[in-house]
Amino acid sequence: MTTLVKINLRTLKENPNAGNTISVVNRGSTINASFNFHDINILEKIADCFIIDKYSKRNIMSEFHFSGRVIKKGPKVFYNKLIKLGVDPSTITVNIENHFHHVHHAPEPKYLYKRTDPKVTCKSCGKKSKVSKLISDESYYRSTDEYIYYENTCPACGTVECADIKYETIEQALERKG
Ligand SMILES: [Zn+2]
Repeated sequence: MTTLVKINLRTLKENPNAGNTISVVNRGSTINASFNFHDINILEKIADCFIIDKYSKRNIMSEFHFSGRVIKKGPKVFYNKLIKLGVDPSTITVNIENHFHHVHHAPEPKYLYKRTDPKVTCKSCGKKSKVSKLISDESYYRSTDEYIYYENTCPACGTVECADIKYETIEQALERKG
């Protein structure tokens, strides 16, 4: 008996990004902060969460201007810490810089879908397993210089090709959908 792994028609839809080969991903963010303060010793008090890029002496009110990166703490927590230490809020800027990157990849498919996950019965041991639980893998053996492919291996007894499985094609699913 051959088990057909169908496409779940409710999940089948056209991919709005079909053919697209470039995606934008966010590879994390940096919190930047700058503020003015009179006492350079403030750096010691925030050393656990602030990496300084630069500071400069300002003649106005003999203030230092600090700028750098906030680590370990969020922007709000850092801001509140500065306020507690007596920094003038009007001199504080804290902003989050997101690092977006373009990623090139193979063209996105025309359709998006999920498949059903029927149970199959192992020809050898008779145990029922969901298709998604069958093991497919490849191993390389140095001694024989061989690649061995394990397809649809029974997780209970290790029999390779333990059931006859066919996968419904997108064309077949579209026809079924009508
Ligand atoms: Zn088995």
